[in-house]
Amino acid sequence: METNFSVQCPYCGEHIWMEFYPEDGNQQETITDCEVCCNPILYVVTFKGEDTRVRVERAQ
Ligand SMILES: [Zn+2]
Repeated sequence: METNFSVQCPYCGEHIWMEFYPEDGNQQETITDCEVCCNPILYVVTFKGEDTRVRVERAQ
């Protein structure tokens, strides 16, 4: 299964690669600062076979 996901920073629009593993749970939430603009990004990951997706939101 694909574990690398390309997302776009909700603040600066920078493309970021993040790695998530289904072993850690079908539904995951994590907050990581953008490497470019340093704003906190909330990642919501849903592992659901081919419908696996990653959503990003502003965490503040
Ligand atoms: Zn950013």
